[in-house]
Amino acid sequence: MMTIRLYWDEPYKREFNARIDEIVRDGIILSRTVFHPEGGNQAGDKGILEKDNQIFKVDNTSSLNGNIIHHISSDLQGRLKIGDKIKGKIDWDHRYGLMKSHSSQHLLSAILKREFDINTNKVKIRDDFVVLNLSQKITDSQLLKVLLTANEFFIQKKLRIFQKLVPFEEAQNYKPQLRGTIPNKKKVRLVFTEDYDITCCGGTHVKYSNEIGPILVFEFKKGKKLKYYTGKKAIEYIAKYNIDFLNISEKFQIPLSEVNERINCQIENSEKLVENNISLKKELLELVVSNPSLIKNNIKISYVSFPIEFDILNEFFDSLADKILLILKLENQVLKIVTNYENVSAAEILDKLLNKFGGKGGGSSFIAQGKIEKFPDDILNIIGQMLH
Ligand SMILES: [Zn+2]
Repeated sequence: MMTIRLYWDEPYKREFNARIDEIVRDGIILSRTVFHPEGGNQAGDKGILEKDNQIFKVDNTSSLNGNIIHHISSDLQGRLKIGDKIKGKIDWDHRYGLMKSHSSQHLLSAILKREFDINTNKVKIRDDFVVLNLSQKITDSQLLKVLLTANEFFIQKKLRIFQKLVPFEEAQNYKPQLRGTIPNKKKVRLVFTEDYDITCCGGTHVKYSNEIGPILVFEFKKGKKLKYYTGKKAIEYIAKYNIDFLNISEKFQIPLSEVNERINCQIENSEKLVENNISLKKELLELVVSNPSLIKNNIKISYVSFPIEFDILNEFFDSLADKILLILKLENQVLKIVTNYENVSAAEILDKLLNKFGGKGGGSSFIAQGKIEKFPDDILNIIGQMLH
């Protein structure tokens, strides 16, 4: 005997009476149930089973060989037996959330198919969010079209959603309009959304599309993966993000309607500033090197008082024929020595300075850095003397 699935004809039924048919290791099999099992991408129902004022919590529901298993974590030993009459009740908030999410997924996939011929490859349905994996990338403007149409269906329009259990052969008649494939089963359950969508599905759905309410996309990765909130969560986040946007608009002194555009401008501007900063540093470096503070043994020694990134130094040195030694004084008595001349070692010079004035540090023959304890005023001359 297979469990009678009451949720197919009566998805709004929350309570039911049934008999215990079997007790298995993982839980209880009943003669009939409104508990929808995990499967077909929809999460399993939760709820309670009751017998003589004893309450057993159902944490999840799954299906096995046509039977539905109600998973109960508490100890059943001696408290329940085959043949017992029980009363069951599902967690309605959880289930109604699943119904809204599931129906919203059908319609979103249908819109994508109709408008852009994009298929939905994989879905995940939870009571407060849905994940869709699409067959190809969609653009922002395509997503906009999908959301406008979807929210119209979910809020304003009242499309009727209904199902039919038909023989496999009969299902073939719907093939031209049917979204997805027809499972190879004797009887196939078709889910219709008025005249907009037909698909094969064993899940639970709302009766009218406007029960779903607004949705809110919270992730849109690589244009192929969509994650959106449904139900209460969507409403909560719409309100929250509204406030966030108002704060951004206030902080940046940008009208709400121009936030996206103006922030893109800001990003472009700051990228330009970084570029300008780099070319200024390069020019400054050239100026410093062409006016050395000291020349010793044909080596131009220059003092640099601004920080320079390693990349810039490297590129700059590559373009030079002169023998250069740069002394960079950074914050907190930190000294950086850089040279392009192979007969002079930056690490050796630093070592000598550390011996004389205390501190610690190290590096290579090209670049060395250290913190000098007693930083001397005439460091350039001291280094110059070291070059004998
Ligand atoms: Zn479905």
